[in-house]
Amino acid sequence: MKYVYLFGSDITEGNATQFNILGGKGANLAEMSNLNIPVPPGFTISTDVCNLFLEEKKINQKIVTKIEKALGIIEKNINKKLGDVKNPLLLSVRSGAKISMPGMMETVLNIGLTTKTIPGLIKKTNDEKFVYDSYRRLIMMYADVVMEKAEQKNDVGIREKLEKILEKLKIKRKIKKDSDLSTSDLKDLIIQFKKSIKRNLGEEFPDSCSKQLWGAVEAVFKSWNGKRAIQYRTIEGIPHDWGTAVNVQAMVFGNLGQNSGTGVAFTRNPSNGANKLYGEWLENAQGEDVVAGIRTPHPINESSKTTQTKKDITLEDTFPNAYKKLILIKNKLERHYKDMQDIEFTIEADKLWMLQTRTGKRTGEAAIKIAVDLNHEKLIQQKDVISRVSAKNLDEIMHPKVNPEMEKIHTPIEIGLPASPGGAIGRIVFSAQDAEKWHKQNKKVILVRHETSPEDVQGMHVSEGILTAKGGMTSHAALVARGWGKACIVGCSNLNIDLQNKTLTVNDKKYKQGDWFTINSSEGLIYDKKLSLVKSNFIENKSFIELMRIANKFKKLKVRTNADNPQDANLSKKLGAEGIGLCRTEHMFFDKKRIRSVQKMILSNDKNNRKKAIMELLPYQKNDFYKILKTMAPMPVTIRLLDPPLHEFLPSQKNTKLIESLAENMEITPKKIVNRIIDLFEINPMLGHRGCRLAISFPEITEMQAEAILMATAKLMNEGFRPNPEIMIPLISNINEFNHQKALIQKIAVQIEEKYKIKIKYKIGTMIELPRACLTADTIAESADFFSFGTNDLTQTTFGFSRDDIGSFIQDYFDNNILSNDPFKTLDINGVGLLIKLAVQKGRKINETLKIGICGEHGGDPKSIEFCNDIGLNYVSCSPYRIPIARLSAAKNSIKLNV
Ligand code: PEP
Ligand code: MG
Repeated sequence: MKYVYLFGSDITEGNATQFNILGGKGANLAEMSNLNIPVPPGFTISTDVCNLFLEEKKINQKIVTKIEKALGIIEKNINKKLGDVKNPLLLSVRSGAKISMPGMMETVLNIGLTTKTIPGLIKKTNDEKFVYDSYRRLIMMYADVVMEKAEQKNDVGIREKLEKILEKLKIKRKIKKDSDLSTSDLKDLIIQFKKSIKRNLGEEFPDSCSKQLWGAVEAVFKSWNGKRAIQYRTIEGIPHDWGTAVNVQAMVFGNLGQNSGTGVAFTRNPSNGANKLYGEWLENAQGEDVVAGIRTPHPINESSKTTQTKKDITLEDTFPNAYKKLILIKNKLERHYKDMQDIEFTIEADKLWMLQTRTGKRTGEAAIKIAVDLNHEKLIQQKDVISRVSAKNLDEIMHPKVNPEMEKIHTPIEIGLPASPGGAIGRIVFSAQDAEKWHKQNKKVILVRHETSPEDVQGMHVSEGILTAKGGMTSHAALVARGWGKACIVGCSNLNIDLQNKTLTVNDKKYKQGDWFTINSSEGLIYDKKLSLVKSNFIENKSFIELMRIANKFKKLKVRTNADNPQDANLSKKLGAEGIGLCRTEHMFFDKKRIRSVQKMILSNDKNNRKKAIMELLPYQKNDFYKILKTMAPMPVTIRLLDPPLHEFLPSQKNTKLIESLAENMEITPKKIVNRIIDLFEINPMLGHRGCRLAISFPEITEMQAEAILMATAKLMNEGFRPNPEIMIPLISNINEFNHQKALIQKIAVQIEEKYKIKIKYKIGTMIELPRACLTADTIAESADFFSFGTNDLTQTTFGFSRDDIGSFIQDYFDNNILSNDPFKTLDINGVGLLIKLAVQKGRKINETLKIGICGEHGGDPKSIEFCNDIGLNYVSCSPYRIPIARLSAAKNSIKLNV
């Protein structure tokens, strides 16, 4: 078995595909060497050796010999020798696991400096200060990594102790930068360091090159099982038996005076994806100085400048030759790896060396631009563009978000469920009325509620963001906010809202109406400060448009939208919707005037009054449907008949003002209204008198809605449009419910066809959102033109979890590993999914071409979309702002299925 792999020298033995045994860093060092990119020579000790070492607690002799042989080759190759008094070789020893584990494992630099080799190196470099600076760095790192951590003397804190000595000396010398220390300061420091090490660790710092080397190699292996590394692997799900490789490499020095330097860069801008090298560098420094934050690094070139570094010197101006080479290497690496790279380099006496390359992390905006650009540059195919961009990348670009720089310096006061991604800043208010009032005064608000209801919709609409103490991912607030692309956090049970005094208490801290809050609703973070936002204009983003065009080429699944007004319909068309999959008609009654009519309709206990209230809604409805059908024609529009859980529409008994005004309007006493509210009270409204049940009791509702839809359709047809309405009956569990409603609609259709003297093209289908509907889907398919899975209710009724209350206990389910996902967000494939599959099979057995879609919130969730595609649904329907994600996910799925 091969344990040691040379690189960078005349022989390179590994390559990028061997990251399992060479680790990411080692594999890429080998790959760069193969590409003739200047890499300081060295060798990688494989991950197998790490596992053997951890088992046997020592490196076995056979492997020791192999390592010594590899070292000999390197020494010969560069004509320097470890421990040589005249021409000493210095080494770096770095960890490198299969997957990068930033900061989790160890590195030791400058190995090979001893009292014997120091004079030789001084003579060779003619730079005494450089040599002693390198030596004090070696002592600090070695004492920390090898002598303390690897020996598990964890409480000593030797690094901090040595830093303190250094700081004290700087204060004494009245200097700020380490590099301003004189040679005699450094010599003085080294003496103090060695004393402190002996005193605190009970051992001398080793004055032997080989002891230093083996100590460092073993320390890197041991760091695989360090506490931090184990914790990190557990969180990230990285197997504990992978082990780390060790890279032993000839040192090159960026701190060898003014013609040396070091830097880190991305081959493209990782924030916006621009195809320009982007990075930072420092003159006369070693790599750790750039990342440690002790010295502020400079921009690499013009395009890396920020407002703060506008006037700084660039690498491009200071080292033009090295910079030109760096650009050539950037191009070579990108052509080879076909992706943006994150690189580390050092310039030693004007010569450029590459120390690392790996795939660079990037923002959503950059991920999209880079993928699309790489395709234009013919480096990747269109299907790769789809696989390179994630749903999270898309999510990120669509919403304004909290400025990440500000989030770094502030701590959230609480965390809730991230219901609708983005960010918002505003003053907190506790009622929809106050939200509207403050909005009129041009004040930005965040509406904080226990939970929201349709009564709050105006207030929600004018708010920058919404924050609720109750509710889950499909609660009213979450659903509405997502539809608008508005920032929203729900289910934050630690919010204690005092509506009377208009205060909010969170973890013993009290806030009053008007206090500034910022919410990061992509992550559910709440700040009690006014941070800042970064905007998004993604619809005009060229790369986004291109990505969506490519997605459409691949995807088979249609993507529709959930929209209940012409504005959303228009927006969804811009975002690529291929129809409306769910128009929730009760959402059309959020308007103040209309909600009164709905309330009157519900509260009337005689047929005439009810009919009167319902008929007040007819002109509104007809107009709504006319506009929506016209906007979408000839694409289909699925209009769901009224499905209001009663509690969402009933006024509160305490709202005397509203009750009095309703009473006056309905010409009955307020007492009667209150009694009716009491009569209508339901213990379990989500399972109550809603959906088709309401329309069975009050058929005039269905009649009015059917009339409005079909009249609008007839009018449009007469005007030359091709409207495509699909009337959908909600919450059926029994074919007789469906047939009852279907007959009502057909009766109205006949009347309208006679009146307008035309044949209207329309469909009548149903929501499948109750387990019984799934189980009897074959019978239903005999009558229904289409099915649409209402997975919000289907999840609610399959689990028996109330969709409005799950927020109060779901965290306990996560904490106890009972659930790993919120089933209202990601479809429960093993349970709810099974019912869906069964219903599809049963439905299609009766009607092979039955059109089937999904319109629950899961229609915008990538994993759930994958399932829908796999089981052969025709379309998914989701909130407008989820459309791009649905299109991308559908494309990914088609590509996967074609492989
Ligand atoms: C559903 O239940 O999944 C659905 C789409 O209907 P609603 O959310 O309006 O109950
Ligand atoms: Mg439903």
